[in-house]
Amino acid sequence: MLKEKIDQITALGLDAVAGAKSSQELNDVRVKYLGKSGEVTALLKSLKDVPNAEKPAMGKLINDVKVKIDSALAQREATIALAERKAIEEKERLDVTLSKDNLEQGALHPLTLVKNEMLNIFMGLGFSVADGPEVDYTRYNFELLNIPQDHPARDFGDSFYINPDILLRTQTSCVQARVMEVTKPPIRIVCPGKVYRPDDDATHSPMFQQLEGLVVDEHITLADLKGTLEEFAKKFFSPSTKVRFRPSYFPFTEPSVEVDLSCAMCGGKGCRLCKGTGWIELLGAGVVNPAVLDACGIDSKKYTGYAFGVGIERATMIKYSIPDMRLLFDNDIRYAKQFK
Ligand SMILES: [Zn+2]
Repeated sequence: MLKEKIDQITALGLDAVAGAKSSQELNDVRVKYLGKSGEVTALLKSLKDVPNAEKPAMGKLINDVKVKIDSALAQREATIALAERKAIEEKERLDVTLSKDNLEQGALHPLTLVKNEMLNIFMGLGFSVADGPEVDYTRYNFELLNIPQDHPARDFGDSFYINPDILLRTQTSCVQARVMEVTKPPIRIVCPGKVYRPDDDATHSPMFQQLEGLVVDEHITLADLKGTLEEFAKKFFSPSTKVRFRPSYFPFTEPSVEVDLSCAMCGGKGCRLCKGTGWIELLGAGVVNPAVLDACGIDSKKYTGYAFGVGIERATMIKYSIPDMRLLFDNDIRYAKQFK
C-alpha cells in the first residue's frame, strides 16, 4: 500500500516540478511536496504504521523520493531563473534603432537671449560683470544708496522684507554698493540679476531682471553716460536709434535722467506704440550722487561716476514689440520657439 503511494507521489511530484513555469509556481510545488505539511512529510509520518521489519526499507524509499524531487526542483529552478533573466533583459533592452523623429532641439528663452546680448555689448565697451545676493541687507539696498529711513521706497508695502534689516533686493544697485565698498576706482561694471517688487500687471511683475551699469573714475561726466547709452542703443536696437535724456529724480544719482529711445515703429512721427510722442521710455540713469560715493568709501572730491539701470523684460518687450510682460513668464514653448 505505502509503496504504491510512494510511487504515485514521486510521479506526481516530478510532473509538477516539470510543469512549473515560474519561480513562484516552483516554490508552490516545493511547499506542496517537501513543506512541513507536504506530501513527502506526510509519507514519513505514515511510517509509524508500518511493521518494524519493513521500516528501514520504506524509510529509504521515502528519503529517495525527497532527494529526487529536491534535485528536480534545483534543476528546474536554474532553467527558470535563466529564462526569467533573459525575459527581463529583453524587456529592458535599449533599442538604439528607435526613431528619433519626435526629439526637438531646445532654444534659449528670449530673456536669456536678450541678457546675453546686452552683456556682450557692454563687455565689448570694456565693462566687466559683477554679481551679488538676491536677499540683501537694507544697508546695501537703501542706506548706502542715499535712500534714507523715511523715503517712500522703504515702505513695507513696496518691498518683500525678510525682517526689518533684510529684504529681497528691489534693485541690482545693491551690487554697485557692494563693489564700491571694496574696490578702488576705476570701476566699470554691469550687474545683471533678478529684483523683487510687489507689482503685478501687464507691464510689471513681482520678479523681473535688471541690468545695471556703474562707472567710477576721474573726470566722468553725463556726456560719458550719454555716449555709452547711445552706443548700446544703436547696437541693441538699431543703428538709426536716437537717445534722449529727460531730467528726473533718483536718490542715488544727481543729476538724474530718464532715457528715451526714438520709436522704431514710426521713426519719430508718433504712433500707437509710442503713444504719439515719437519716443519710448527705456531706463533711468544719472551721475552718481557724491553722497553715495562717500558712503561707500570713495573720495567724491577726486572721483565721479555714472550709473544706469535697464529692465531686461522692458528692453525685450520694446525690442520685440511684446504687449504683455506676462507672456515672457508663461513658459509656453510655442512662444519661446519664435525667438530661436
Ligand atoms: Zn512711434
